[in-house]
Parts: sequence; structure tokens; C-alpha cells
Amino acid sequence: MASVYIALGSNLDNPLAQLEQAVKSLQQFATDFALSPIYGSKPLGPQDQPDYVNAVARFSTPLSPLELLDCLQQIENSQGRVRLRRWGERTLDLDILLYDDQQIHSERLTIPHYDMQRREFVIVPLYDLNPDLILPDGTAIGTLYRQFQDHQMVRYT
Ligand code: ATP
Ligand code: MG
Ligand code: MG
Repeated sequence: MASVYIALGSNLDNPLAQLEQAVKSLQQFATDFALSPIYGSKPLGPQDQPDYVNAVARFSTPLSPLELLDCLQQIENSQGRVRLRRWGERTLDLDILLYDDQQIHSERLTIPHYDMQRREFVIVPLYDLNPDLILPDGTAIGTLYRQFQDHQMVRYT
């Protein structure tokens, strides 16, 4: 079993309900499932789109990294994900942040997620879930969290 962290995001078609449905789907192949608080955040990239709802899930899974990616993409598709423009609006985005301590650089997968350290909507809920977390490169989540302590995100749960 691997211990994984997944970022969830949505800004279309009732984002809170999208996250709730995604959680149910993730739980099909997860044990020891935990969800962070849910936050509201400003969009990354194009600003002419609705604000986002974001959270991070942690769970254990028997799936390999690529099997996990396949499952996440199936869930995105089943919830009507359409790719129109980079960082554009979407019903659901599921990104693998961490997969144990593995560092993966392949055509379909970069783990840890390439931009996670710069995103407050990832670092804050990750810290909420596990304030003792150490990333594979040795960075403590607490150090990253301190950069975003004054964040302006809304907390929904
Ligand atoms: P960003 O990755 O900057 O958050 P995005 O999530 O909108 O942008 P997507 O369109 O969801 O990007 O994914 C594009 C591709 O990224 C996917 O087809 C997938 O193969 C690849 N990818 C690479 N690493 C990961 C990862 N850690 N988690 C999810 N997808 C990844
Ligand atoms: Mg993403
Ligand atoms: Mg994605």
C-alpha cells in the first residue's frame, strides 16, 4: 500500500458538490481516507473564470502511480471535465501531489506535483492534514506553510 496525497479543485457546475462526488469515487480504491478543510481560492492563470473550491485528500491505496493517474482521469471525465484552455475552468481537477516518497519524472507523471510548493490552495490544506509532513526533497511543510499564513482564502468546512 502507498500513502498518497491528491489535490482536488473545481470551479464549474456546483464546485462543492463536485468535490463531494469526487471524494465518494476516490474512496472506492482508498483506505484510511482523510479530507482537509475545503477552501475557496482565486483562479491560477486566466482571471475571467469563477473562483475555485480546493481541498487535499490523503489515503492509502494498492494502485501503482500510473494506475492511480488512470483512475483520477476517469473520475475527472465521469464528472464532465473538458479541456478548453490551460488552467481554464473545469468541473474537476485531480492531481497527484505525493506518492510515498517517490520522485517520478515520466511522460505522463511528475511526482511530487511540479508546482505544489508555490500554490497556497495546496500547501495550506496539506498542512492542515499533516503539519509534520516532510516532502521527498527534505522540505518541511511547516516552512512552506509559513509563506502562506496570511492567505485570503475562504474556508468552507
Ligand atoms: P497543473 O498540472 O498545472 O495543475 P492541470 O491540472 O490543469 O494543470 P491537467 O490538464 O489536469 O493539468 O493535466 C495535464 C496532464 O498532466 C495530464 O494528462 C497528466 O498526464 C499530467 N500529469 C503530470 N504529472 C501529474 C500529476 N502529478 N498529477 C496529475 N496529472 C499529472
Ligand atoms: Mg491542476
Ligand atoms: Mg490536473
